[in-house]
Amino acid sequence: MAHEQAHEQAHEQAYEHITVPAVGERITVREGRLAVPDNPILMWIEGDGIGPDIMTASKRIWDAAAQKVYGGQRKVAWMEVYAGDKAAGLYDGNYFPDETLDALRDFYVGIKGPLTTPVGGGFRSLNVALRQELDLYACVRPVKWYPGIPSPLRHPELVDVVIYRENTEDVYGGIEYKAGSPEAEKVQRFLVEEMGAAMVPHSGIGIKPMSEFGSKRLIRKAIDYALSSGRKSVTLVHKGNIQKYTEGAFMQWGYELARQEYAGVIVTEEQLYDQYRGQLPEGKLLIKDRIADIMFQQMLLRPAEYDVIATPNLNGDYLSDAVAAEVGGVGIAPGANFADYVALFEATHGTAPKYANQDKVNPGSLLLSGVMMFDYIGWGEAADAIESAYTRTVEDKIVTYDFARQMDEAHEVKTSDFASAVIERL
Ligand code: NAP
Repeated sequence: MAHEQAHEQAHEQAYEHITVPAVGERITVREGRLAVPDNPILMWIEGDGIGPDIMTASKRIWDAAAQKVYGGQRKVAWMEVYAGDKAAGLYDGNYFPDETLDALRDFYVGIKGPLTTPVGGGFRSLNVALRQELDLYACVRPVKWYPGIPSPLRHPELVDVVIYRENTEDVYGGIEYKAGSPEAEKVQRFLVEEMGAAMVPHSGIGIKPMSEFGSKRLIRKAIDYALSSGRKSVTLVHKGNIQKYTEGAFMQWGYELARQEYAGVIVTEEQLYDQYRGQLPEGKLLIKDRIADIMFQQMLLRPAEYDVIATPNLNGDYLSDAVAAEVGGVGIAPGANFADYVALFEATHGTAPKYANQDKVNPGSLLLSGVMMFDYIGWGEAADAIESAYTRTVEDKIVTYDFARQMDEAHEVKTSDFASAVIERL
């Protein structure tokens, strides 16, 4: 309740540059669930570089799908919030205004285009800053193949996984000391003299903290998703054979959580073969684990055996890009970052500055992130409509340059024309 009241109060504040749409209603949290009105206020951050091109195209499709499916009964009230170059222009050079964070906390659900990471000058990545400030602890990437999309696999149709990557811990905490620095020397002295560790003198040092709290909340989200969407398994991907008390602990905490909180629903691989002759009973969820290096092979050789994947931060970073490449790469892979309720959906590629304002690139990643967003707010019918119209467009070989160059007899179109083609097929 305190959480809900705090948000009610926050809503009263006035913003400097953000205009709250008069017609829309706020998404709220009631009894631990999102309460979504028929005209929800959803936030958008345009993004830099190719951001405006893909955002304009995608918003047209999202709105057209809602109109088509709900006939005006449900309609998004869009609210623009600012980050990156556009924010810097409005807020005196501030790339990451506080009121953007306030709005994201107050209104819960938004979608963003890619943001430039300004190089040098002590700037941290805006994407990392957003994740940390909002405690967006689960980075979620569904990866599946759409017919007609070029793939390096012989059977890309077997790839259909959702990767839950822990987003706040592991080596991403930035606890690092440069080789030879007084800090590195001090940490090394402590480790060698007091802890008996062996180390080449003057090494650079990085620290990898991983907690039970951080691991379990990520794995819980993955299991909840698997159960609510009828998925068959959750695989814990870790490097616990080498890093026992971080990656290995992640795996153990995962099994412990499954036993404690999902008893009666969960089947382990051992039980699957001992008790069920290898056949997962209806309504049960298989929980298993794989060492990270083997998992990369498995996703190439036996992708059909994997469904939902839960993994620590660094493994997840590598794995999500590698698996995305199996089904067409960055132009198409959607993504989202979740806290308990706040969710920020995003294109997973960067700003591709050389293509900015050319109406050229593939809007697929952002578009399909919007499909995830519609699913998240319970607009599954609109999400399905977009996905199937998207599939038909690509099947008709109407594609942007990136796919066209890998396909035979493709009809290459601009970003905006691609959007029109999807809308025609809704
Ligand atoms: P990038 O912007 O993702 O672009 C790399 C290449 O990927 C492009 O040259 C293009 O390939 C292809 N590509 C990316 N988006 C595409 C799309 N929508 N359609 C078709 N092809 C697409 O990566 P980068 O050049 O390394 O990074 C540029 C900037 O983006 C940097 O400032 C970086 O920090 C930032 N960035 C932001 C995010 C984020 O906001 N989430 C993520 C990554 C990077 P071809 O050249 O082969 O056509």
